[in-house]
Amino acid sequence: MPDCLFCKIAAREIPATLVFEDEQVVAFKDINPKAPTHVLVVPKKHLDRLSSSEDEDSPLLGHLQRVAVYVAGQLSLKDFRLVVNNGRGAGQTVDHLHYHLMGGRPMQWPPG
Ligand code: AMP
Ligand code: ZN
Repeated sequence: MPDCLFCKIAAREIPATLVFEDEQVVAFKDINPKAPTHVLVVPKKHLDRLSSSEDEDSPLLGHLQRVAVYVAGQLSLKDFRLVVNNGRGAGQTVDHLHYHLMGGRPMQWPPG
């Protein structure tokens, strides 16, 4: 396993507040939330970033979005934002693909 924070959370080696888990995905609360609801939706498979995905990952990427919709519903979010930061210049700090599911406050556009 790579020395990776989110791989370790997915393997339950580092604690997190899980809100969803299945064979392919975990979702847990962001430790430094930027919105009243801020959950990270994370594949158990290690991918450095979205642009590291390949065609064979398409079902997984679709599933991550479906999980995000499911979790949003579970958390009673009608409106939400789903964000991927791809690369340092886009704000990525953890090198394991994750979708930010954020809601519970009005969102501005464009993001900074
Ligand atoms: P990004 O900047 O897009 O790579 O997002 C990484 C996110 O991971 C940030 O929003 C952090 O607050 C969050 N984060 C970092 N460490 C942890 C952790 N141990 N548990 C939960 N979320 C974390
Ligand atoms: Zn990883």
